[in-house]
Amino acid sequence: MFPGLALIAHCPDDAGMARERIVSGESQGGEKDSAPEPSVSSGPVVRPKTLQDYVGQAALVERLSIAMEAVKGRGESMEHVLLHGPPGLGKTTLAHVIANEMGSTAWVTSGPALNKAADLVGTLTKLGEGDVLFIDEIHRLPPAVEEYIYPAMEDFKVDFTVDSGMHAKVITLTLKPFTLIGATTRAGMLTQPLRARFGITHHLEYYPHSDLIEILKRAVVRMGISTVAVSGFDAIAERSRGTPRVALRLLRRVRDFAEVRGTGAIDAPAVTAALKLEGVDDLGLDEIDRKYLRVLAEVYEGGPAGLEAIAATMGGDAGTLEDIVEPYLLQIGFLSRTPRGRKLTAAGEGHLRG
Ligand code: ADP
Repeated sequence: MFPGLALIAHCPDDAGMARERIVSGESQGGEKDSAPEPSVSSGPVVRPKTLQDYVGQAALVERLSIAMEAVKGRGESMEHVLLHGPPGLGKTTLAHVIANEMGSTAWVTSGPALNKAADLVGTLTKLGEGDVLFIDEIHRLPPAVEEYIYPAMEDFKVDFTVDSGMHAKVITLTLKPFTLIGATTRAGMLTQPLRARFGITHHLEYYPHSDLIEILKRAVVRMGISTVAVSGFDAIAERSRGTPRVALRLLRRVRDFAEVRGTGAIDAPAVTAALKLEGVDDLGLDEIDRKYLRVLAEVYEGGPAGLEAIAATMGGDAGTLEDIVEPYLLQIGFLSRTPRGRKLTAAGEGHLRG
């Protein structure tokens, strides 16, 4: 059995599958700050701290810097921001950057972690004036909890019911003005009332090669690595699927390989050899991606085929494929979506043959 297939078969939940993939944009053990504590700058992830350190996404950076300067001038808190796009593109990082630029603290949590109204109210009441509350996977906030967030976002207050039955009492808690930063990989799953309460909404794009190289260059300085050749930066960036988190993870994996099995130098041959061991090819595709393409080519004769059918053949979950396998294949033009289903493109077919 292919390792990719085994992963899908053994890890049917989205997070389980993503945890195993070196080329996944999802965060894995030790890569993300824990929630819902205030952010700390120490720890395994060293993030850019200012908008100036934040590489790329020029349009978003410009929109945010205008908004921040304007609200600072008026002495107000920053607008609520909704960021959507694939994992690993810098949404959490932006929450930290905004808090830092506004001189406040970022608190990080996620939709599934706030599964009771009390969790949300507890978190909201901890926020200080101007603090940033980052809610990852905000589309997974339970509807009963979401209702509490509307007045919190609009009027900085929450009505909380204590006790039940004839003893029930509604207490209105006044919150300090804060900024909610919501992140989602599935903007379409957000309810309209929630979406409407964000002042700034932005879709994060995959990063071009030059931005990834810049991110890698800054990371090697921070990590104290002095052995990366130009060809090494290029080779890692090419396999990073436009995603900073993947680029940084590949860098760490290649560094280990170069130190233990190679000469210590991180150059193109070291990158190729290290990542071949991980099943990652020259375009950054792994066994799951190639399996998806092969199923489409061989079982469905290139398509069009329905996502559910492809997922069933692969023994996996359609939502997982849609979230973490298809976006990059679509981005590089190996896959197209038609009203009748998924189709393999000529470029995708060429890659399989190649
Ligand atoms: P997301 O929240 O979208 O999943 P993160 O913000 O956790 O992604 O970013 C993943 C990693 O990539 C972090 O280590 C972060 O420092 C780095 N990173 C992401 N975007 C950028 C960027 N624009 N410039 C520099 N580093 C970045």
